[in-house]
Amino acid sequence: MERAENPATIVVVEDEADMARLLQFNLQSLGHRVHLAPTAADAVRLVADGVPDLVLLDLRLPDGFGMDLLRDFRAAPRTAATPVIVVSALGDEPTVVQALECGADDVVIKPFRTRELLARVATALRRHATPPEAAAGAATPLAFGPLRMAPDTREASAAGAPVELTRTEFDLLAFFVANPERVFTRRQLCEQALGSAGAILERTIDAHIRTLRRKLGPAGHCLVTVWGVGYRLVDSP
Ligand code: CA
Repeated sequence: MERAENPATIVVVEDEADMARLLQFNLQSLGHRVHLAPTAADAVRLVADGVPDLVLLDLRLPDGFGMDLLRDFRAAPRTAATPVIVVSALGDEPTVVQALECGADDVVIKPFRTRELLARVATALRRHATPPEAAAGAATPLAFGPLRMAPDTREASAAGAPVELTRTEFDLLAFFVANPERVFTRRQLCEQALGSAGAILERTIDAHIRTLRRKLGPAGHCLVTVWGVGYRLVDSP
């Protein structure tokens, strides 16, 4: 494994010593600095000492639930934007949806492949190294994989071929292209991509995704379903 482009300071919140050491070893071998927090109290203390570049967060901790820590991080201005990847054995859909809607950048379920976890860490760090775009509101062109989008003229293309999109489809796809490789729940897509809320709209997301996949041709496979959770845009499916 190559060393990371930008070494980061990472807090690993994990009470299982073997798991913590495995994460520490792999992250350090990439050149990252790792601080271990075996309890929620340790995590709070470490983050109070200095805001890390990223937090890996287990959910079941001896002195609390990781989801509460996540909410606290998001509520505090200094850690509101700190990337947090939940790493948990609790892989049921409601837990994953809850973690994403509490502000987790990503969720990795145990047991995981080390290579996969390190890729997710690299993606989260890269994403936070560049300031977030307001998707369709941004004037600068958006690009990811085979997709190109010009928010000012509302033109889109897939693998060089122009694609005709409705306003809603454009806004939805632009949000994915501005936030690639990240899982979003239907609710997040309604609220953040389309600026509207409601259970009925959440169900229409599925229909919009189906239409987008059809219109995008082969590139439509890049819009991946995360079963029971939502959707993610990937480079190669
Ligand atoms: Ca645990």
